[in-house]
Amino acid sequence: MSSSWWLSFRGADVKCKLCGGTAVINMHQHRLSLCGEHFLQWVPVQVARAIKKYRMFGPDERILVAVSGGKDSLALWDILLGLGYHADGLHINLGVGNGYSAESQARAEAFAAARPGAALRVVDLAREYGAGIPELARMRRGRKACSLCGMVKRHIMNQAACSGGYDAIATGHNLDDEVAVLLQNTLRWSVSYLARQAPVLPGEPGLARKVKPLVRLRERETAAYALVRGIDYIYDECPHAEGATTLFYKEILSQLETRSRGTKEMFYLGLLDAREQQGAFRSDDEKVEMHPCARCGQPTTAPGLCAFCRLWAGGTKDTQGEV
Ligand code: SF4
Ligand code: ZN
Ligand code: ZN
Repeated sequence: MSSSWWLSFRGADVKCKLCGGTAVINMHQHRLSLCGEHFLQWVPVQVARAIKKYRMFGPDERILVAVSGGKDSLALWDILLGLGYHADGLHINLGVGNGYSAESQARAEAFAAARPGAALRVVDLAREYGAGIPELARMRRGRKACSLCGMVKRHIMNQAACSGGYDAIATGHNLDDEVAVLLQNTLRWSVSYLARQAPVLPGEPGLARKVKPLVRLRERETAAYALVRGIDYIYDECPHAEGATTLFYKEILSQLETRSRGTKEMFYLGLLDAREQQGAFRSDDEKVEMHPCARCGQPTTAPGLCAFCRLWAGGTKDTQGEV
């Protein structure tokens, strides 16, 4: 992400609401501008509130943070460590070219190396499984890189969390990510996704709980946190993200927000409220029966191999049984 907004803002004479010092960020939706010191105190408080409000995890639980090397995941790891949680990192090297994967891994490793006690596990897709995402997409013509990537990441994260005895997987999804996905799902009326999009996805046997502690923070806030904290993250987007619909939806939502402050919160919290308080998207369908994959043992909806194992076994289309 470009830091131009940040630099231009720093030049403006806006005061911290708490101490009167020079503000580094002005959060219009909260009517709050803060200096660096107070912003670094404010962010973890918001995250701690979200963890408590949505009952993500308790103080003694072990958390596995999905660390891409970008601002959100590194900020999340930093905040969880700062709040005193036992949080380890998992980085998946996706084998994406133009130096993207190599640099992402280097950022994740540098972050961990600078913090004693921050354990990082790296899974190199090409080395451990035989191909990175671009190669997999070429092998599986008809499957988009991002759809393969999502499935591969979910599988590896779940496997690492279950085998490592972690209580939850934490991802760095922020409010902008969530509302972009929500807009996409709403435009398509993807009811099954609308029924599941939440700050917490409870665990099931063989499936680790998934949590999104940054869900109430905006992208510019996580970027500002990383910058003020001096976290060295990868600025570039993954080359496969170029032209992604979600980036376009983020732009549209930011335009809506400019016209009407608080639109993003209203949209996202409205979904949670509609579902929990009003019973929207509630399905009376029977719970889908899960089977252990014949190869890896992870739960899958169809008997036989799970989508991940079929992918490497050279199976046909992977449209069922994704975990
Ligand atoms: Fe994976 Fe696509 Fe994201 Fe790149 S943009 S990391 S390929 S999901
Ligand atoms: Zn201040
Ligand atoms: Zn499997």
